[in-house]
Formats: sequence, C-alpha cells, structure tokens
Amino acid sequence: MDTMVTAIIMMLVLGAVLGLGLGIADKFLKVEVDERVDTVTSMLPGYNCGSCGFPGCSGMAEAMVEGKVKTVSTCKPSKPDARQAIVDYLTSTPGPDGSTVDIKI
Ligand code: SF4
Repeated sequence: MDTMVTAIIMMLVLGAVLGLGLGIADKFLKVEVDERVDTVTSMLPGYNCGSCGFPGCSGMAEAMVEGKVKTVSTCKPSKPDARQAIVDYLTSTPGPDGSTVDIKI
C-alpha cells in the first residue's frame, strides 16, 4: 500500500514539475506569430501551384505580409475580387508591430 501511495505522490510531483516547466517554456520561448499570414493564406486560391515563385500559398502569404511581394497579382490563379479583398485586409490590418502592409492589386 505504501508503494502505491508513493507512486501516486511521485506522479503528482512529476506532473507538477513538468507542467511548471512547460508553463515557463511557453512564457519565455514563445514565437510571436503574425496572424495575418493565416488569414491571407485562407484568402488565396489554395492550389499550392508554385507559379508565384513560392513553395505554396502560405509562402506567398508570408511574403506579402513581410512586404517582399508588392502585388497580389503575383498569384496568377487568384480572382480579382479575392485580390481586392487581400489588398483591403493588408492595408487596413496592422501586424504585431502596429504597421500595415503597402500592397497593390
Ligand atoms: S500562385 Fe497563387 S495559388 Fe499558386 S501557390 Fe502561389 S499563391 Fe498559391
């Protein structure tokens, strides 16, 4: 019986220590993600064809958010209304640093 109680206590202590470690790691090792990348990725066609020069739509979205791509029409398969929606979104939605993206159709 003592062995079982000891095992339960050890499991509780181990769980608490590991949980504390994960909590500390989450606080100090957190990678800040720009949520605009996911939003713009969802606004692109999703063909992942690579004709934009990026390995997929998420790469293109990341490049647009970072300002490396200046025109949404770099994505040839995208429709005009989707291009306009992306421009409207990126020019009006600030990122984590508070700045918006200067991008054209
Ligand atoms: S061209 Fe458009 S659809 Fe093709 S991978 Fe690039 S963003 Fe995606």
